Amino acid sequence: MPEPGHPRDGGRRDSYRVSVTKDYLVFASAHFITFSGHRCETLHGHNYRVGVTVDGALDPESWYVFDFGILKRIMRKLCDDIDHKVLLAMENPHLQIAEVGDSVTVAYDNKPRYVFPKRDCALLPVPNTTVEMLAEYLTGLLQADLAKEGPSNLTAIDMEVEENFGQSATFRVTM
Ligand SMILES: [Zn+2]
Repeated sequence: MPEPGHPRDGGRRDSYRVSVTKDYLVFASAHFITFSGHRCETLHGHNYRVGVTVDGALDPESWYVFDFGILKRIMRKLCDDIDHKVLLAMENPHLQIAEVGDSVTVAYDNKPRYVFPKRDCALLPVPNTTVEMLAEYLTGLLQADLAKEGPSNLTAIDMEVEENFGQSATFRVTM
């Protein structure tokens, strides 16, 4: 345990940032987005890649900001949960999405468009499945899982979701 007043005494002066990007922090999923006006993409897929960075003070006993192992485990599960799924934006006012038996029906502006097996869908509480909204969604889930780990010294999370090489969005939340 560092002595009080030590330059690294728990981060009142120092702040660190640690990042996790791993080959397995990916999800290969189908989606389509709607645009303003009356345009809607056709269904297509991406090999999404996720990177997360957390900011915070050093844990005074372990000398790290956060346990990489825990962060990797949480992020891997979040990616696995939406891997090989059709990502559907449940809060999109242009989409009418209904669960009917084992199926999910999707209409765009009340015109029937798709029927998917329910087990192949991820019904997401987002207004559009843009990388911006996916990044914010994953951040919310990560925050909820981190809260279960107990009190946190973290001060910020940056969640990057890339849908094509060099095409990504980052959501940042400060705590
Ligand atoms: Zn796309």
